[in-house]
Amino acid sequence: MNKYDAVVIGAGSTGVPIALALAEAGEHVLVIDKHASVGQGENKHAIGGVRATHSDRAKIVTALRSLEIVSTWRQLYGDNIEWVEGGYLFVVYREEDAKTLKSLFPLQKSYGLHIDWIDKESVKEKVPGINDNGLLGGIFSPHDGNMSPLLLLNGYARRCLAQGVEFRFKESVTGINRDRDNKSVSGVKTNKAEYSTDIVINAAGASIREIGAMVDIDLPVQPDSHEAAVTEPVKPFFNPMVVDIRPEEGSKSYYFYQNALGQIIFCITPSPPILGTDIRSTSQFLPQIAKRMINLLPRLKYINVRRTWRGLYPMSPDGQPLVGEAKKLSGFIIAGGMCGQGLMLGPGIGELVGRYVTNKLTLQDLHVLDGFSLERDFGKVEVLK
Ligand SMILES: Cc1cc2nc3c(=O)[nH]c(=O)nc-3n(C[C@H](O)[C@H](O)[C@H](O)COP(=O)(O)OP(=O)(O)OC[C@H]3O[C@@H](n4cnc5c(N)ncnc54)[C@H](O)[C@@H]3O)c2cc1C
Repeated sequence: MNKYDAVVIGAGSTGVPIALALAEAGEHVLVIDKHASVGQGENKHAIGGVRATHSDRAKIVTALRSLEIVSTWRQLYGDNIEWVEGGYLFVVYREEDAKTLKSLFPLQKSYGLHIDWIDKESVKEKVPGINDNGLLGGIFSPHDGNMSPLLLLNGYARRCLAQGVEFRFKESVTGINRDRDNKSVSGVKTNKAEYSTDIVINAAGASIREIGAMVDIDLPVQPDSHEAAVTEPVKPFFNPMVVDIRPEEGSKSYYFYQNALGQIIFCITPSPPILGTDIRSTSQFLPQIAKRMINLLPRLKYINVRRTWRGLYPMSPDGQPLVGEAKKLSGFIIAGGMCGQGLMLGPGIGELVGRYVTNKLTLQDLHVLDGFSLERDFGKVEVLK
């Protein structure tokens, strides 16, 4: 039986960065995925937004590191991941939203984040043609941005291969082996083979609960589905990711941006959530979001939609990831529950888990792990969940 220092379950937004961090620390790593290549789970369903402007400390610190990684990727490694530092713009039409978003400034600024209130005229400059009826202004963070999720993972995969990481694709994990005393992991079983290891990392995205159940560990992650779409490319006319958090019947927030190729990519948060793992597109999504987007930015009505898709947010009860080692099973490490933010948290979490496994945690890491703890109180919900 092949022996590895660590086996990562899931070649997605989180698993691949973890594999790289471990390999760079000298570990012999195997990554297993049921799909045919990296990023074919939820990674490729993400629309590509990356921001550090969260309302929780652990997420801010993690996403700040992710931003640093993705914004310097091309310079360091040569791959064009279509990174654009377009910023995030929360458009504000209601006093209550201004108050909520501004209340986060002290925390966000204490981590050095550039985020500020901008007035109505500045919003109109950033999003030409925006509906200014009732527009109060916006919250703008210039250093956030967007990129291609798949190009980033391909870049990671190339670096993993160069570091000796092995991948087994089209192979499904069916069981986790334990030592005789049942207290630590000893390997992984798939539909094709068995691998021996003392460290198993459960980064199986929407399936982390199923993998946890294989060792009787309940991970409170429930997938819910979200739809997205992309238009034909048009001449660039706005830069930021535009976020509108006003709820309407059938939906909460929606957001959109124009990517490096000129296409507009957009996504909506259904309300109530659509629970489950069905990823067939609905017929409600496009009319629902098109109405909201065209009302916000009327000139969008001239642009044709090319493709829609539906994917899953692996949701935790409080909107925070779950990262850490299972108390009752040594060597079983969980990195999941990424919700709608696995792309922007994955690179930072990859390095964090790398330091955890190789005993190189910093004091700041301990605080972050506390925020992502498997034993935390799941009743507290983040303001910008
Ligand atoms: C419409 C939409 C838009 C989104 N937009 C954004 C965004 O703009 N920014 C952002 O940060 N996030 C976004 N997300 C969220 C993001 O896609 C997820 O949070 C992220 O991909 C989750 O990463 P992960 O590594 O946990 O899971 P995944 O990327 O899904 O990786 C898990 C992998 O595990 C594999 N796997 C599962 N079970 C097994 C098994 N038994 N055996 C072998 N392999 C297995 C799967 O095949 C999969 O490849 C969006 C999601 C959707 C649906």
